[in-house]
This record gives sequence, C-alpha cells and structure tokens, in this order.
Amino acid sequence: MTNLEIARVFRQVAELLELQGEDHFRVEAYRRVANNIETTSENLLYFHDRDALRRIPGVGEGIAAKIDELIETGRLRYLEELQAQVPPGLPQLLEIPGLGPKKVRALWEQLGITNIDELEAAAKAQKIRHLPGMGAKTEQNILKGIERFRAHQERMRLGDALPYAEQLMEALRQAAGAALERIEIAGSARRRLETVGDLDFVATAADPERVMEAFVHLPQVSEVRLHGPTRSTITTTAGFNVDLRIVPAESFGSLLQHSTGSKAHNIRLRELAQRRGVSISEYGITDADSGDRLLAAADECEVYAFLDLPCIPPELREDRGEFEAAANGTLPHLLELEQIRGDLHAHTSYSDGACSVAEMGDAAQALGYQYLALTDHSPSLDVAHGLSVERLLQRAEEIDDYNAGQKRFRLLNGTETDIRADGSLDYPEEILEQLDVVVASVHTRFGMKREEMTDRIVKALDSGHVDVLGHPTGRLINRRDPYEVDLGRVLEAAKRADAAVEINAFPDRLDLRDVDARAAKELGVRLAIGSDAHHTQHLPLLRYGVYTARRAWLEPDDVLNTRSADELLRLLGKQ
Ligand SMILES: [Zn+2]
Ligand SMILES: [Zn+2]
Repeated sequence: MTNLEIARVFRQVAELLELQGEDHFRVEAYRRVANNIETTSENLLYFHDRDALRRIPGVGEGIAAKIDELIETGRLRYLEELQAQVPPGLPQLLEIPGLGPKKVRALWEQLGITNIDELEAAAKAQKIRHLPGMGAKTEQNILKGIERFRAHQERMRLGDALPYAEQLMEALRQAAGAALERIEIAGSARRRLETVGDLDFVATAADPERVMEAFVHLPQVSEVRLHGPTRSTITTTAGFNVDLRIVPAESFGSLLQHSTGSKAHNIRLRELAQRRGVSISEYGITDADSGDRLLAAADECEVYAFLDLPCIPPELREDRGEFEAAANGTLPHLLELEQIRGDLHAHTSYSDGACSVAEMGDAAQALGYQYLALTDHSPSLDVAHGLSVERLLQRAEEIDDYNAGQKRFRLLNGTETDIRADGSLDYPEEILEQLDVVVASVHTRFGMKREEMTDRIVKALDSGHVDVLGHPTGRLINRRDPYEVDLGRVLEAAKRADAAVEINAFPDRLDLRDVDARAAKELGVRLAIGSDAHHTQHLPLLRYGVYTARRAWLEPDDVLNTRSADELLRLLGKQ
C-alpha cells in the first residue's frame, strides 16, 4: 500500500460518513488526515514507513490502527461496512461541483438517484427542480458540473502521479532484480504536465519476460489488461493505467522519444524528417524510399541530432516554438532545482501551518537552502489563524533568535497578506515596510466580476508594498477554476511595481501555470517559486514549481529565489 492509496481509503471513509449525515468534525478529521498523508507521499518512501505515517498530523490512535490494518491486510473492514450502506455510485456525486452531502442524500432518498448517469438523466428531465432548495438553476449547474467532472476524471495531478510512478518503478526494480536494466518514465509525466492520464514506462531488460512477469504481479496491480513479452498494461489499485514497454538497448532512445510526446511535438518532428526524406518511428529512423534502417538511437538525443537539432528538453516538447528555438540555437538554459537557493512561501504554526519556526528553519537547511521566508497569514484570514500585528512581532523575535545562531542560513520575516476585497492589504504600511518579504494573495470573494477582481489585484500591486503576488489565479487543479481576472493587466501592474509573480508549487495549485508564467517572463516580470509549505514535509514540493518553471521556458535569472539572500533583499529593496 502506498500513501496515496491509504489517503484514498480515508477520503472514501470521509465521503461515506458525510453521505450518512455523520458529524462534520468527524468527517473533516478523516479528510485532513487523507490530505496530510497524500501530500507527504513523496517523503515517506515507500509502501509503508509505519512510524512516519503515525507522525503525520491528525493521525491519532484510531486512525493509526486503521493504517496498520491497511498495511497488513490491504483492506479496511470499517470502509467495507460503510460501503455496504450506500449505493456504490453515490459517493462520486459529491465530486460534482455544488453538490454537497445534503443534496446528494436528498437526490438519493427522494428521486432514487444512485449514480452520475441517473443524475444527468434526472437533470435533463427537469425532475430535480421540484426538490426543496433546488431549482432550474441547480439543474443547469449540475449538468455543467457533470461535464467538467467527466473532462477531469481521467487525469491525476502531477503531484500524485509522479511520486506514484517513482514508487512503482522502485517496486519493479526490487521485484525484477538484475533482469531489469534501465527504466524511465515517459509520456506526460516525463514532460511534467500538470495533470497526467496514463503512466508510461520504457525499459531495457536482460530478461524481458521475467521483468514482465514481475510487473504484472506487483502488489499494486488490480487488473492485468495486457501481458506480453515486450508490452504489458496494468490497472493499479490507485486507479492508474500503467503501460510498460521493453525494447533492445540499441533502440531505447527512439522509443523513449516517441513515448514522451507530446503528440503535437512528434508530428512536427516527423514533418521535419519527411523533408529530409527519412521517416521517424518508435523503432528508429528509416529511409523513406528504401525503408532501410538508418538509425536505431540508443539515446533519444541521437534522434534530434540526426535532424541537426540540439536535444530538446522533455518539458519543452509541446510544439510551442521549441523547434524554431532549437534551429536558431536559442533554446533556453532551463532552471534546475539545484539552482534554487531558498523558498519564498511557507507557513508556521503561528497561522495554519503544522510546524514551529525552528522546525521549518531546520528543514529548509536540510534541503541545502540559504533562506526560507516565513509567510504566515494576515489578520482577516480568521480560518487560517491570521496573525495580529502583536503576534507578527512575537514571531519576528523568534525568527531573530533563530537567525542569531546561524552562519549560512536565515529565516526571512515575511507575510502572506490578504488582498482584501477592496484591494487594500491587511497590515498597516509601517508594518509591511518592516518585513523582508511581502507575499500578497487573494483568499476570499473568488466570485468577483473580472474587472472588479483585476482592479482589486492591480490596486494591491500599485501600493508598492507587494514583493510577490501569491498564487495569482486562485485555481485548484481539478477542483476550482481560476477566478475571472485579466492576467495581462495584472502582469503589467506587477512589472510597474517591480513585483514578482508566484509560481505556487503546491501540487494542488501550480499557479501560475506554465503558459502564463511564460507570458510573465516575456513581459519582463520576474517569477518567484514558493512551496506554500504548511508542514516541514511540504518543503520538497517546491520541485513541482521548478517543473512548471521549466515548462514556462524559465532560466535561472528569471526566478527571484535563485539569488543569494543578500542579492534577494537588495532586489526587494530591503537593504
Ligand atoms: Zn495563500
Ligand atoms: Zn500560503
């Protein structure tokens, strides 16, 4: 059992309890644990580090016992009991935006609706509007919601898919032993696309049949869809389809290139090849007339070299100008994770984080950072225990004490101040001026009209006190669309104010997304990458922000936190 699977079980428990009208706090407790287990999945490699799981916030004795049961038996009797009490398709209805547990129960009890297809039929037949508290508008929203749900359903966030793929590869390495030689993730996960459908692995093997045997017998397998000597496909218990292909070492590069995609990129590549009278496939490059094999490509860069192109990094393979840049010799020198010197967005237990000032500092040092900005929430964000001025000053003292003991590291005294509905910031100017890093973000009133929301954010930037505009569009991948905003005007305002815009690296967010971050760069706006960690174990999630930055063509100079602490503070006008 991986952490992802355990998290999924607890999320199911929460949903089922919710549908049965269980106490809100009890439901939320399960959900919080699921979130915490899921977001730590990449640090607690892998399958079951039981002690580490027990240390996760929210894991009390009852849940710890359930984790033990899951790890030992792969099942949870409690979940099975709950499942027996509601129709199997019912929990899924909760994923339709706007449908809470009360409404779903009403739909079930009064209209006998037990799954999404029945829900759709009832909405179309205008049966739902007669239920108390619902109307014609509800029906429209349900139909829209079903459409969105279906569009998203097949794809998982990169933050779930990538650690899962890495764990699965490791499991296969263990199971196959020396029979497996080389294995790589291909497909959209390799391109670090923000969501991933199926997982694709490409491998070479001393004994392909043994590797395939090990693959289809991994404990994560729930269904074997295809089992052959060179290709097998499984569905895992976490709901992923995983494809494994094994090729001879001499054509590994061709298959890796082919399987990495994107489709649009590969179409362009084949066109370029055609113009030279050759044809490119997953097996290599052949003469278009004679069909003779010209190249097998052990390394995928050989494919590009054959067309006189430099090797194009996977994150750029979207047919968004990478071929032109490759031909002109202007491919970017993409940002690398190792070039990040610090993190500009993190929370402590002063607001809604789980760890202390010192714990966050120590964890950031362990990652090799020179600095970490502590950016707790501001007063008006009650739900996140926003800091009064008094508590902000108290935290500042604690930060000073911590820094006094450091030589090569410092905690930066920051805030994630709310951008209020009227565009004002949530602390007085004289307080903001004392802070090292002011991240400003929208956390409320997401439903504002486009112009109003744009004015709100522009006004905040025009104040001159914002260093970083936090998660600039407010989206949550697969869960919440970005708010309506004129990003062009926002970026212009950021440029005017010499403020950076954030790539929030938290896997739910990845906000700005790649194309918008690239637009920011092209406008001359600097980017800041922040993990938005609420726990020490979230700090490594910053890597997802680096992936987005790479997909946005960003080079180290485009990113604020590749600077040393001194340079950073100078750039922010604090020294
Ligand atoms: Zn925030
Ligand atoms: Zn935050």
